[in-house]
Amino acid sequence: MSHVLAAVAWPYANGPRHIGHVSGFGVPSDVFSRYMRMAGHDVLMVSGTDEHGTPIQVQADADGVTPRQLADRYNRVIVEDLHGLGLSYDLFTRTTTRNHYAIVQELFEGLHRNGYIVARTTLGAISPSTGRTLPDRYIEGTCPICGYDGARGDQCDNCGNQLDPEQLVNPRSRINGETPQFVETEHFFLDLPAFAEAIGGWLDRRENWRPNVLKFSRNLLDDLQPRAITRDLEWGVPIPLDGWRDRADKRIYVWFDAVIGYLSASVEWARRTGDPEAWRQWWSADAQGKDALGYYFMGKDNIVFHSVIWPALLLGYSGEGDKAGAPGDLGKLNLPTEVVSSEYLTMEGKKFSSSRRVVIYVRDFLERYDADALRYFIAAAGPESNDTDFTWAEFVRRNNDELVAGWGNLVNRSVSMAAKNFGEIPAAGELTDEDRAVLAVAKTGFTTVGELIGKHRQKAAIGEAMRVVAEANKYLSEQAPWKLKSDEDKPRQATVLHVALQVVSDANTLLTPFLPHSAQKVFELLGGVGVHAPMPRIEEVEDLDGGPSYPILTGDYTVGTRWESVPLVAGTPLAAPKPVFRKLDPSVVEEELARLGGEDS
Ligand SMILES: [Zn+2]
Repeated sequence: MSHVLAAVAWPYANGPRHIGHVSGFGVPSDVFSRYMRMAGHDVLMVSGTDEHGTPIQVQADADGVTPRQLADRYNRVIVEDLHGLGLSYDLFTRTTTRNHYAIVQELFEGLHRNGYIVARTTLGAISPSTGRTLPDRYIEGTCPICGYDGARGDQCDNCGNQLDPEQLVNPRSRINGETPQFVETEHFFLDLPAFAEAIGGWLDRRENWRPNVLKFSRNLLDDLQPRAITRDLEWGVPIPLDGWRDRADKRIYVWFDAVIGYLSASVEWARRTGDPEAWRQWWSADAQGKDALGYYFMGKDNIVFHSVIWPALLLGYSGEGDKAGAPGDLGKLNLPTEVVSSEYLTMEGKKFSSSRRVVIYVRDFLERYDADALRYFIAAAGPESNDTDFTWAEFVRRNNDELVAGWGNLVNRSVSMAAKNFGEIPAAGELTDEDRAVLAVAKTGFTTVGELIGKHRQKAAIGEAMRVVAEANKYLSEQAPWKLKSDEDKPRQATVLHVALQVVSDANTLLTPFLPHSAQKVFELLGGVGVHAPMPRIEEVEDLDGGPSYPILTGDYTVGTRWESVPLVAGTPLAAPKPVFRKLDPSVVEEELARLGGEDS
């Protein structure tokens, strides 16, 4: 048994999240975490909202609120959405907690002490008319990489590249249109080249990574440059060095603070459990390779942060880059075991776009459809290793043909037949070869499905689980227990239904990581009592260090069914079942398409 860290990408709190976001990191990390817990591992699943940086400041300015107020609004929306999907975070927090600030500053100081953070003179913008610093977000111009005319001083929203203000072609102030003047100013840089060798060696020892992720990561090492980790911005974590701490115009860059969230959230979780050192079981490098494993889930645009930059921060803090050094108070820290990156989801052939209304937000989706219907689609047809298109027609087809007609129908007909004929789970008599064969298919599923989830091949895993369902449906059709009604046939009917219900129970366990809401219902239909699939809850908590209160996602996941076949007990009372899944009317395809924005011309 291992300590398994499930480190899930941090959604940015500048708006509600759409289903493309949760298909990349949210659902796959939850499937993995649920399975690992069921298999007996100690899982710590952490994340939170990413709340600093220019885009939040810009939007807050536009909305006439403070960045904190904007972040408060969307932190809550996102917490509620992830709760609705049943994502079983041990802690889903945010980057504006005082705990997070303290851990970010501790890493900054440790890296600085070990020589991996260097001050450099760069060009900063000032307004010629006032002589004041112009923060990055107030400078706009043409992107030198893609030619987009609305690029900002720290990033181009069109091509996604990070920029420095002086790289912009035709820079201008967004306040009054004047051309900024560039003067020398100091910023801090992370000395990434000092980690090239250590990261290269670590990547060489990686096994089982998706090949494209490993190749992409290796290529990044070819051209490592020192990277700016502070900006001209007021919204962010203060720089924890003398002479800098109290400066209102310089902050730590948002990417530097957000990636540290995995660690700060683990520390916060431990502090909230009453054992403040408990996080070390998932992070202490002394345990690496033995029993502490870390899996990081994200979309492919974030690979660089997890396979190069985050390892660099961990190595530098631990004193293991070219310049050596000594670890700080947090000790030597584990590098990721695996970076699990998914590809992109598109919608009806187009890139998700809020402005063009090519989007469906998680909240709107959950108002109209069940969480498990979306979870099923993402697992069976999501962007696991290829860019994938979400279409409403395919969503409805999979829901109706696979969930309802396949799995739902198996549950419904086997439970209702047993309830009607026996009122309880009937006892099995002597088993035939056919009985033993279908039971064996279900038992084997625990090995095949489990191994596939452990290797992040969830599409194949849910395919195997649904194959058990198909075999059971075939078994029922062939055995036709509804025909076995005479007194003479009754014992055989009991046996067939007992076998069918046992396979339903096993298939339900195999599907539990994917479909936790319906798995709980099926468990109860089979007479189960108590928690089968534990669910997260939203809790309003105080900031541990005196900041404002906020909502978190957390839960008790020590309860629930294990990853094994549990023999059904004959005589357990059964009631007539209610349908577990909802069949969707094909007209919803037209309705949803009508909600989407028009042509993107
Ligand atoms: Zn660009």
